[in-house]
Amino acid sequence: MRIILLGAPGAGKGTQCKRIAERYGLLHLSSGDILRQERAAGTKLGKKAQNYMDSGALVPDKLIVEMMAGAISKAPAAGFVLDGFPRTVNQAVELDKSLPAREGEDQRIDAVLSLEIDDRVVVERMTGRRSCPKCGAVYHIENLKPKVEGRCDRDGAELVQRPDDSLEVVQNRLKTYHQQTKAVINYYKNSPAGPAFYHIDANREADKVSDSIFESLDALVSA
Ligand code: AMP
Repeated sequence: MRIILLGAPGAGKGTQCKRIAERYGLLHLSSGDILRQERAAGTKLGKKAQNYMDSGALVPDKLIVEMMAGAISKAPAAGFVLDGFPRTVNQAVELDKSLPAREGEDQRIDAVLSLEIDDRVVVERMTGRRSCPKCGAVYHIENLKPKVEGRCDRDGAELVQRPDDSLEVVQNRLKTYHQQTKAVINYYKNSPAGPAFYHIDANREADKVSDSIFESLDALVSA
């Protein structure tokens, strides 16, 4: 199964993609995570992406499309779930072009799920997020507090706010989402003989969102 999860930053794509990957045995491919790894490793791509990421802008399509096509080509036959990609209509078109080429088999996207969330909820969720620079554990100042304020439960390291979770950058990322990524929803909804498309209310708690997603995908698998 080949799935795309769309949604504003902070809609919970990462959490839901992990759960989908586990349940259906798929490879979870997050463009944001891959970019962060490239940055941490100090690669050419990581260096090129740095300034765009820190300001909440999108990394140029060409770099992202190449990076993701490479990652997708290594996915197992069971399929993959894409998290954070495509984010522009051009990326979606390029993804479509690259998919049918694989080993002569039909590789088209089966389902697109759109996580829909209010901007107000996104701002609350993202600006309150804190993470451990040592182990990557994620907390929230209201909803997922560490045992000792400001310290990681696992290793005691001082928790930090990711630069792209600051209020200014979150507002920029939302603006970018509304200007560029929302059009991707229409691209998939209006594509003839395109993938199955589902609207999911992501203002709810994560378990309820997962229930809705699994209900849709289970029905698709057994159809
Ligand atoms: P994320 O963790 O998915 O929110 O991604 C973090 C940052 O990486 C974004 O704010 C963008 O700067 C960049 N990024 C991730 N995915 C893409 C994409 N598909 N196209 C362009 N930039 C991306």
